Amino acid sequence: MAEEKFDVIVVGAGPSGNACAYTLATRGLKVLQLERGEYPGSKNVQGAILYANALEQLIPDFREDAPLERHIIEQRIWMMDDRSYCGAHYRSEDFNEEKPNRYTIIRAPFDKWFSRKVAAAGALVICETTVTELVRDSSDKVIGVRTDRDDSIIYADVVVLAEGVSGLVGTRAGLRSIPKPDTVALAVKEMHFMPQETIAARFNLQGDEGVVIETAGTITKGMTGTGFIYTNKECLSTGIGCLISDFTETAQTPHGLLEAFKAHPAVKPLLAGSEVKEYAAHMIPEGGYKAIPQLFGNGWLIVGDAGQFVNAVHREGSNLAMTTGRIAAETIFDLKTNNQPMSAANLAMYKARLDDSFVMKDLKKYKNLPQTLENKHLFTTYPKLLSNAAQTYFRVDGQDKKSKENAIVKSFFTTRRVKGLLGDVLGMARAWR
Ligand SMILES: Cc1cc2nc3c(=O)[nH]c(=O)nc-3n(C[C@H](O)[C@H](O)[C@H](O)COP(=O)(O)OP(=O)(O)OC[C@H]3O[C@@H](n4cnc5c(N)ncnc54)[C@H](O)[C@@H]3O)c2cc1C
Repeated sequence: MAEEKFDVIVVGAGPSGNACAYTLATRGLKVLQLERGEYPGSKNVQGAILYANALEQLIPDFREDAPLERHIIEQRIWMMDDRSYCGAHYRSEDFNEEKPNRYTIIRAPFDKWFSRKVAAAGALVICETTVTELVRDSSDKVIGVRTDRDDSIIYADVVVLAEGVSGLVGTRAGLRSIPKPDTVALAVKEMHFMPQETIAARFNLQGDEGVVIETAGTITKGMTGTGFIYTNKECLSTGIGCLISDFTETAQTPHGLLEAFKAHPAVKPLLAGSEVKEYAAHMIPEGGYKAIPQLFGNGWLIVGDAGQFVNAVHREGSNLAMTTGRIAAETIFDLKTNNQPMSAANLAMYKARLDDSFVMKDLKKYKNLPQTLENKHLFTTYPKLLSNAAQTYFRVDGQDKKSKENAIVKSFFTTRRVKGLLGDVLGMARAWR
């Protein structure tokens, strides 16, 4: 590979790198994609929900051969305290549509499938190769990369960093700083295997229908975080994650949190009798809009998790990764077609196009939410108050309904006081608008 020159080098074969390399290769550019893992997906962790729209824009007929688990017909959102949960369930027959909107997937087979598409489109995909540094010329333009294979330089007009949340290549090159502990969550996940019929019976499902459950509350022991349970064909993916800054300030461990989550009376029966075959831990960038680093420069672009592109509120990451990868590729293609250099001024078009897309619009909408979610009452006081309110309301015990309603309202005011309640409601409303 010594002295070989490519139009584009893509670092990483997750959803963002694959979307980018696929878009470029299908348009005839000479693309090299480097992945440090043994195979694409070997280093990747996700819940995982796949949002069809982002993939459909790249591979419209993906449903024909992609390794999809279940299409999601029901979404549950649980606010949990130690013995209860209350929340919302939405289930609709409409989700049994011809082209379902969301699926559960398992990342290792999914990433392998996606990578085969990238290679079939004409990109050169090389695994077990870690990019160790970016190489620049005397004008500071990125002109290629070095890898751990040998010391030679591989040249390209532009390098796309799709290296995921830790983003060491970009950090080492001074393109971005190390993400702060309060902008990154650490999540752990297990795969619980059980017969398909058991999953169907426990979640009231037929065929490939699926249910996903997102949870928050006292399960994170006062830390900012969430848990999840997703139905796959023959297993449940379950996990929990919290901000790294919170873990460093408490004696809690991710493993301890997951064990407690699995033992919760609402979760334990769903997992009963299962066999755990996989355990994984991974970081999730959750800093949102304000944590997005510089995304382009002289000869380089950043896509996906490396750019903090995760919408933590809506649990969306892979679709933002694919969309940023696609938009980066379209920008490069347009510049190349018009014989324009890959300069910072020209690559700024990538950021402008992102600003116009749902990716930036959504992250901007929630720009103040990460700070608002640092309010620990949301994960301690409120789940208990909600649970007590629901229990008071639903118990039939001879007490009249008006007195019950007064007791519920009083419990909120005596626990959080007027000032606290107003502050919490206003803070949430401001962060949500
Ligand atoms: C527990 C968990 C649950 C999640 N659930 C969901 C979900 O349900 N739905 C959803 O949409 N998103 C979810 N996400 C987020 C989603 O996984 C990410 O947003 C998405 O994977 C980002 O894709 P990416 O390509 O940017 O990065 P990654 O998927 O992390 O891929 C980066 C790739 O780059 C490679 N790499 C890194 N450094 C180098 C190097 N120096 N040289 C060569 N290769 C390198 C890595 O090996 C890796 O393959 C979840 C994340 C976690 C951790």
